[in-house]
Amino acid sequence: MNYRIASIKGDGIGPEIVTQAQKVLNAVGAVYGHKFEFTELLMGGCSIDVNGVPLTEETIVKARECDAVLMGSIGGDTRTSPWYKLEPSKRPEAGLLGIRKALKLFANLRPAYLYPELKEACPLKEEVADRGFDMMMIRELTGGLYFGNRYTKEIDGVITAVDTLTYNENEIRRIAVKAFDIAMKRRKKVTLIDKANVLDSSRLWRRVTEEVAEDYPEVEYLVMLVDNCAMQLVRDPAQFDVVLTENMFGDILSDEASMITGSIGMLPSASLNETKFGLYEPSGGSAPDIAGKDIANPIATILSAAMMLRYSFDLDREADAVENAVKQVLKEGYRTGDIAKNGEPTVGCSMMGDLIAERV
Ligand code: NAD
Repeated sequence: MNYRIASIKGDGIGPEIVTQAQKVLNAVGAVYGHKFEFTELLMGGCSIDVNGVPLTEETIVKARECDAVLMGSIGGDTRTSPWYKLEPSKRPEAGLLGIRKALKLFANLRPAYLYPELKEACPLKEEVADRGFDMMMIRELTGGLYFGNRYTKEIDGVITAVDTLTYNENEIRRIAVKAFDIAMKRRKKVTLIDKANVLDSSRLWRRVTEEVAEDYPEVEYLVMLVDNCAMQLVRDPAQFDVVLTENMFGDILSDEASMITGSIGMLPSASLNETKFGLYEPSGGSAPDIAGKDIANPIATILSAAMMLRYSFDLDREADAVENAVKQVLKEGYRTGDIAKNGEPTVGCSMMGDLIAERV
């Protein structure tokens, strides 16, 4: 089949890492008989340099015409880059927020998987790391506290700040359905994280998610309070498969889950809308400190491409092939600088892309 992919390479290491993911997708195409057509689009600092703004209508329209978006990262050194002398709405990051909104990407997926070969980078106790973990954090991205009405004003002579946390049943149902669909492709277990002992919004999350769970009898459905989850992630992360949660809890917990894997260069992510469409990007930033040196780790971006194969194109076998190729290169001992132990030989970004593409 033919698939059209919008490629937003962005700034810093973005062009280097996306080029490796394209290399791997082309290898998948050659082995499994697909054609991936890439439309290169500008966003972030590189768009500011050419168009004066971080995101143009043209980029949004062309991205919408594609089947999915593969992104590198945007932004520069926030202390020295001229992009950060602009007003906040014209800076590179505004492009990212703008495209997420324009494409209605409400579900953020961040897998946290501990590669046995990289166990030493895991900051958890050895006996916990030895058990390994493989979870998918699913965070609601467009509602809740970060999007509610907020103001600060003086009430009865006292300065008072108010943030509102609102969710309606439709916003909850659409992401709960995504979580259960994804669980069906994994170990068939969903844990809803909330604060239902205190918050009305959490009680609605429980009610709606329970209704959705009834349509998925094969999936085990559990609930856990957010404070307990923060502890369980470091005590026994192996217990989690799909973790579903609202925007702010997800913001915090997904960073905690990333941290216990030990390496930012290994972590993919996806943001999906109501259709199969999604934007796929590494969890890390544009790493201006190592840009242009061919030393960035392209694996997070390559694994983001694997997520695209699985969740936007339903090509599970091809996604498995990419994930297995990554495991294989790690097993064979190849490392980029960020995941190498002291003194271990390393390979560059482009070489790592070649090695993975060869093993697809
Ligand atoms: P960063 O993630 O870019 O870098 C943090 C550290 O991790 C750096 O030492 C960097 O070298 C390293 N690192 C990151 N990705 C790596 C990779 N693939 N391989 C090897 N090492 C890697 O975070 P930062 O320095 O705080 O931010 C730099 C810029 O990136 C800023 O402008 C920030 O706004 C932007 N940013 C963009 C995104 C995005 O595009 N989604 C996300 C986060 C940060």
